[in-house]
Amino acid sequence: MTPVLALNTISKNYGPIQALDNVSFTVPKGCVFGILGPNGSGKTTLLGIAMDVLRASAGNLRWFDQPSSAELRKQIGTLLETPNFYHYLTAVQNLRITAEIKQRGLDDIDTVLKKVNLYERRNSKFTTYSLGMKQRLAIAAALLGNPDVLVLDEPTNGLDPVGIAEIRNLIKQLAAEGKTIIMASHLLDEVEKVCTHVAILKKGKLIAAGAVDEILVNEDVVEIGAANIQALQQAVNSMNGYSSVKQDGQVLLLSY
Ligand code: ADP
Repeated sequence: MTPVLALNTISKNYGPIQALDNVSFTVPKGCVFGILGPNGSGKTTLLGIAMDVLRASAGNLRWFDQPSSAELRKQIGTLLETPNFYHYLTAVQNLRITAEIKQRGLDDIDTVLKKVNLYERRNSKFTTYSLGMKQRLAIAAALLGNPDVLVLDEPTNGLDPVGIAEIRNLIKQLAAEGKTIIMASHLLDEVEKVCTHVAILKKGKLIAAGAVDEILVNEDVVEIGAANIQALQQAVNSMNGYSSVKQDGQVLLLSY
């Protein structure tokens, strides 16, 4: 099947800093694809290049097996940075402005507000929203025009546990509707919970890419037997890398 996105040997330098080094992978249709890596590993740069906000220093990419174009990118909803909503306007009023800027129809504002579970609060001012609601409104804005693909940069960053759960559930729900979702995250736990596929970045280099249940099971899984899970969690937390301790006494280690 035609991949949604194919990156081919993408590199990016900011002067002397090599933010991406020869990165290639493909994103299959219908998956939730996590770009996983610690801060500074190149996730935002990669998404920026994918959306043509940034220019790659080398390499190329294809969306839907075609050269990237403004027309193709219209099929993609993005949340790359926090949108500037007007604090004293309501959710509906804010989305009307966004729809006009993005040249999307006004008719699907109610639909996207229902999707992100903000319809009941659609006439409340933005300033009265919780952080989680603000982020859901940002996703609603990305959903205007009913794109097949969503590109989200750290969608749960800065949210409290309730807000995080809401956004993760929303992502799963959108994926169940058939949308392909590409999201950056620095949390292994998040990728394990939400994503079907993952590309792991370390200092701009791709370490591994593929289905989560292959990559995150087979890569560096260490059997530790019946250890004290809490003590183990503390020990691995102090290590330089990701860890995820399973109830069955396995620990997944990804060092960086
Ligand atoms: P991440 O999203 O994983 O935190 P980034 O893509 O933001 O990573 O950054 C990757 C590297 O590129 C980092 O070393 C960062 O400091 C650097 N970088 C990002 N944007 C710029 C920029 N505009 N100018 C110079 N360096 C940058």
